[in-house]
Order: sequence, then C-alpha cells, then structure tokens
Amino acid sequence: MNLLPSKLAREIKSKFGSLKNRIAKVIIVYKAPSSDQSQDCPNCYSDTSGVSTGVFDSSFVTPETIYEILITPQSFTRGRCPVCLGIGFLINTQVITVPLRGMVRWNPSSDGEMEFSVAGTEGTNIVQIKTDKRYYEDIRDSDYIMISGVKCELISPPVFRGVGSTDITVVAYLAAVKVGGSVRE
Ligand SMILES: [Zn+2]
Repeated sequence: MNLLPSKLAREIKSKFGSLKNRIAKVIIVYKAPSSDQSQDCPNCYSDTSGVSTGVFDSSFVTPETIYEILITPQSFTRGRCPVCLGIGFLINTQVITVPLRGMVRWNPSSDGEMEFSVAGTEGTNIVQIKTDKRYYEDIRDSDYIMISGVKCELISPPVFRGVGSTDITVVAYLAAVKVGGSVRE
C-alpha cells in the first residue's frame, strides 16, 4: 500500500472534506476483461481443436459484433486469417465497467465505524462505500473503482452488512490511488 503524495491528499481533502455522508452519484467499477470468454472466429473455419485452418469461411457475409467490436468479412486465400490471426477464436478484451450508486464516506476511521485496521494504510486516504448487495461480485472482482473521479483500489474484500434479507448492503474499504477525470457529485 503506497502512501499518498501530500498534494493528492490535500486535493482529496479539499474536494471531499465537506462531502462526507452524501449519496455518491458516481461509483464506477472497472473489471478486467474475463480471459475465459471467447467466441469462434466467424471469418475462418477451425479444426476440431478450435484452431484456425487458415481457410476463409465464405458463409460469413453479414458483419457481426463480437465483444463490442464490429467484425466484417475479410476474404483471404492463403495464410493466416486476418480477423483472428490464426488463433481460431476471438477473446473478449473489453474492460467491463459497472456504474452504480452508493453511500461514500471519505476517511471514516475517525467515527469508529472502521472495524479493522489495515497495516500500512496510515496516512492514506481511505474511502468506505456501501451499496446494494447485488454489486458484491462486481466490487470483489474489480481492478479499481472510480469514486467521484478518484481512482481507488480495494484494501480488502467487500463484506455483507445488515440483518434479514432486505437490508443487506455491501461494504467495502478502498484506498485512494489517484485523482483522475472530472469530479462530479
Ligand atoms: Zn479467423
């Protein structure tokens, strides 16, 4: 865990010092593309093990959107398929973003609600987010999370809080890493 440069610490303090306990409008979870997601290349035939045979599939005539990229038929006669480069399938390389709303509290340790202390986080700006339980996996699997324009990373896995089945929320603690983009509240 890196300590924040003091300039960043000051920036965060001036931007968020008076904004504690408000509803955040912008929490965006960024997840790495899932590397196990792939689809057969529509532009070539593949053999039984899924590897491209290097033969154009002439039945591919209508452009197809795969993982948000428009794939158009690219006829070839020899060599490597220009679409999958001979691999035979296309891998999802899209970064997944999940926008959500939740309660955001900057540096909550002073009010006693922080139930654990994380070694090495002294002097770091910590942010607590509380949101709907359905985002548990998104938060757990995040690469990083943008909170009001500040890039944050999980300090520890998110936890469920609450009683009963209706009041359950997900709580996560993150450390501010970098201010980026526009701050919208
Ligand atoms: Zn191909």
